[in-house]
Amino acid sequence: MQIADNIKKIKAELPERVKLVAVSKTKPNEDIMQAYNAGHQIFGENKVQDLLKKYEELPKDIEWHFIGHLQSNKVKYIAPFVDLIHAVDSLKLLKTIDKEGAKNNRKINCLLQMHIAEEETKFGLSFEEIIEILNSETYKELKFARITGLMGMATNTKNEKQIHKEFSYLKSCFDKLKTDFFNEDSKFVILSSGMSGDFKIAVEEGSNMVRIGSLIFGARNY
Ligand SMILES: *Cc1c(COP(=O)(O)O)cnc(C)c1O
Repeated sequence: MQIADNIKKIKAELPERVKLVAVSKTKPNEDIMQAYNAGHQIFGENKVQDLLKKYEELPKDIEWHFIGHLQSNKVKYIAPFVDLIHAVDSLKLLKTIDKEGAKNNRKINCLLQMHIAEEETKFGLSFEEIIEILNSETYKELKFARITGLMGMATNTKNEKQIHKEFSYLKSCFDKLKTDFFNEDSKFVILSSGMSGDFKIAVEEGSNMVRIGSLIFGARNY
């Protein structure tokens, strides 16, 4: 019951415009089913192998999001069913997603991951790199990889001012891209930011999709 209660509590705190992705990485099917039976259908995984196994074993109306760093050679496994790929960080990956989308005759929704944190280790593109991708001929020829927004992770810090600053920067980049590249595109609408520790700040700074794991399922042991 705990998991269902956690979900209810978080949903009650989120404004209506914000979608909740329940990050179920490392968690067993029973935990996911508790959330599912409480009416939740959007889950996020960060390992291709785990996602495939859960996709096969769990109800088919679950909306699966891939939230981790994705290697090009693994796109083919998730291309037939994935609903949203959150962390696209290169044109090469986008091209591969397009190719696999074509093979499956389905458009695959993707978010470009932006590097907004101070930490060097986090993946992601700079604003300039995103502009470069969107202006490239390669990008303009893509038909099956569809960019539906941006994703970002803030610095892991207790300094709330810093977190506000990073999420606010992400939102300003989203708005600029919307105006300059996606003005006519009704699909470019998602701003994926905020995790267990910082989702309230992210929502204040314009997030409309939060990715929450430990606050729902408890701490992970890895
Ligand atoms: C694990 C993970 C989350 C969820 O983290 P919590 O702190 O447990 O909420 C969100 N986004 C990404 C990309 C993750 O890898």
